[in-house]
Amino acid sequence: MTMRDGASQATTTIASQGCDASPAPDGDPADPARRMLDACFLGPYAENDGMLERLVVEFLRDHVYWRRNFHPEDPPAIPTTAAQHPEYQAFEARLRRELHQLSAALKKSVPFHSPRYMGHMVSDLLIPGLAAQMLTLPYNPNNVSEDAAPVTVDMEVQVGLQLARMLGYPDDTTRVDCAFGHLTSGGTLANYQALRLALALKAFPVALRAANVPDLTLPDDDWAAFNLGHDGGIALLEAWTAWLASLDNAARREWRERVQAQRLEHLGLVEFHARHPSLRVPRVLAPITAHYSWSKGLKLLGLGRDQLQLLPERGMRLDADALAEALDACARTRQPVLMVVAVLGTTEYGTVDPVDAVVDARDRWLSRGLGFGVHVDAAWGGYLATLFRNADGSLRTRDEVGKGFRRFPQPEVHAAFAALARTDSITVDPHKLGYLPYGAGAFIARDHRPMALLAEAADYVFHGTTADDYLARYRQLGQFIPEGSKSGAAAAAVYVTHKVLPLDHAHFGLLPRQTVLAAEAFDARAAVFAREVADVVHARVPFAPDSNLVCLALNPVGNTDIARANAFVRALHDELRSDPRQPLQLKQFFGSVTTLRAEAMGPRQMQRILDAIGLDAIGLDAIGLDAAGLPSATAGADGDADRLVILRHTLMNPYLIDRENGISYIDLYFEHLQRRVRALLSGGWQ
Ligand SMILES: *Cc1c(COP(=O)(O)O)cnc(C)c1O
Repeated sequence: MTMRDGASQATTTIASQGCDASPAPDGDPADPARRMLDACFLGPYAENDGMLERLVVEFLRDHVYWRRNFHPEDPPAIPTTAAQHPEYQAFEARLRRELHQLSAALKKSVPFHSPRYMGHMVSDLLIPGLAAQMLTLPYNPNNVSEDAAPVTVDMEVQVGLQLARMLGYPDDTTRVDCAFGHLTSGGTLANYQALRLALALKAFPVALRAANVPDLTLPDDDWAAFNLGHDGGIALLEAWTAWLASLDNAARREWRERVQAQRLEHLGLVEFHARHPSLRVPRVLAPITAHYSWSKGLKLLGLGRDQLQLLPERGMRLDADALAEALDACARTRQPVLMVVAVLGTTEYGTVDPVDAVVDARDRWLSRGLGFGVHVDAAWGGYLATLFRNADGSLRTRDEVGKGFRRFPQPEVHAAFAALARTDSITVDPHKLGYLPYGAGAFIARDHRPMALLAEAADYVFHGTTADDYLARYRQLGQFIPEGSKSGAAAAAVYVTHKVLPLDHAHFGLLPRQTVLAAEAFDARAAVFAREVADVVHARVPFAPDSNLVCLALNPVGNTDIARANAFVRALHDELRSDPRQPLQLKQFFGSVTTLRAEAMGPRQMQRILDAIGLDAIGLDAIGLDAAGLPSATAGADGDADRLVILRHTLMNPYLIDRENGISYIDLYFEHLQRRVRALLSGGWQ
């Protein structure tokens, strides 16, 4: 990965920016794919208001008829004269007043729909999802079980299979090892579910041993039982299930209870580990860029934040050598590992961890007796997998995926997506790159069988082999999920969206395609910007974007103080964030900030970036690293002087390059940024 060089790229950039007459990188503007995208969103100007309005009214009426046709012989319970009563009218007046106030207050909302919004991981909403959600709301299905949601529970199970297929997991429900996925309130809950499932599967073989189950080939000792690995655990669970099925009812109940009494979920962590003193509480290994939901999750499960071991990155990716060292140390000290987390699209930088190297490491250490699961946190990047998928579910080659892009996907990125099929579970957020309303995260397990270990009413005897068996089992969704009552409307929204836009490159993939193209255009335009402002400020894209987040490091010319550089970027950002005290229209653009830390990037990368923006003189000791590049005692002591504050841009909006009107909001943004930089620096900014 090399620093973008402003001078050498400048000329190619402007020509391929795409808002002039030259051919756009994604084909001609009359391209049928683009015309289809025109129908997907309400649009920056609410261009598709007519379509959304027709859909909402049509299906609201349809709901009304449904109510009336349930028992049309029942007369109206609310008198037809009710609306003439003064109390009724006063109520309606109060309601209207409050709704007007709500509607007025919401005008201060962040304009996520606008191509001027490049802040956080949110954009316009897909009409299919919005319409399906609004249509479903008055039916109010509760996806906790089929009794409360006879229609939308099935949809949720289907969504799990749709996402499984997108990620390369088996989605044929007649296969014993078919995947299973469900929705959650968001990526955070999906990550908790990953921890819960991995822990249940890891501890189960230990419980089987403790219960002295006869006739099963069990591991020799607790350490071996705790280290069977994901697939080893599933195989043992299968053997146990088959053995149970061979017993008569009384014996089956007795053995099930005996094993249940030994399970970690029954005993709790404290008692379980007291009974198995040779086993230490297992650890989770995750890159230092991991989302803070992992810290929350370890606290919530009672494993403790101390069991979250953060691994350094190299070249903005999880450092596979550091992972190997950490695993070696665990194997040497008999420290069990629950799972290794790889991040597919980090929240701060959009970078992609080497999932392939992580699953290779899992296989290698399993053969050395250290078994653990691999979970991919693809809350952000999950839907990018559509770019890598053919309609028949097969994987596209790097050349096929890369057509029309300048650089995407880097070979490492293609390898990471190709390796998803070998992982054990994945988090995806439909409410991020799925362009759906909030309340829609997803957890997907590659193999559905260990889900039995999460069931509240333990029923291990599941020998379904037909699609109906599979569906019947998961209609009792509340048995398996961390939540209880939950929105069936959210499930309908995701399901309908995936039906209208199947999760392959030719359909849903057109959306991430736009965003990656926008990121590449942004990256190139940033190089031009760097030249334009070189007299007053050093500006660099610190690392080539893996996906659709692009960062920008800035430092005033002549400044050698990192705290001052940070204050400058914060001052720039102050004007790029929402400010409820000001009319929204005064805001030109929205961006966000993040920080670069040497411990996350590695000292060499960090030094390279500091050099490129004129902070070479400060040396790594100033940012809290000692001569060996390790965090020094003073790290973090002096405000944010141990890190570099940078601008962060999430490029999700499909209209960043508006070909209809020949406007590039990316160009406009950089023109705006240039004015702000110059105004700040000439205005005596301190
Ligand atoms: C957003 C995000 C999460 C958390 O998801 P929520 O939907 O906000 O709960 C977890 N991991 C990553 C990588 C994310 O980007």
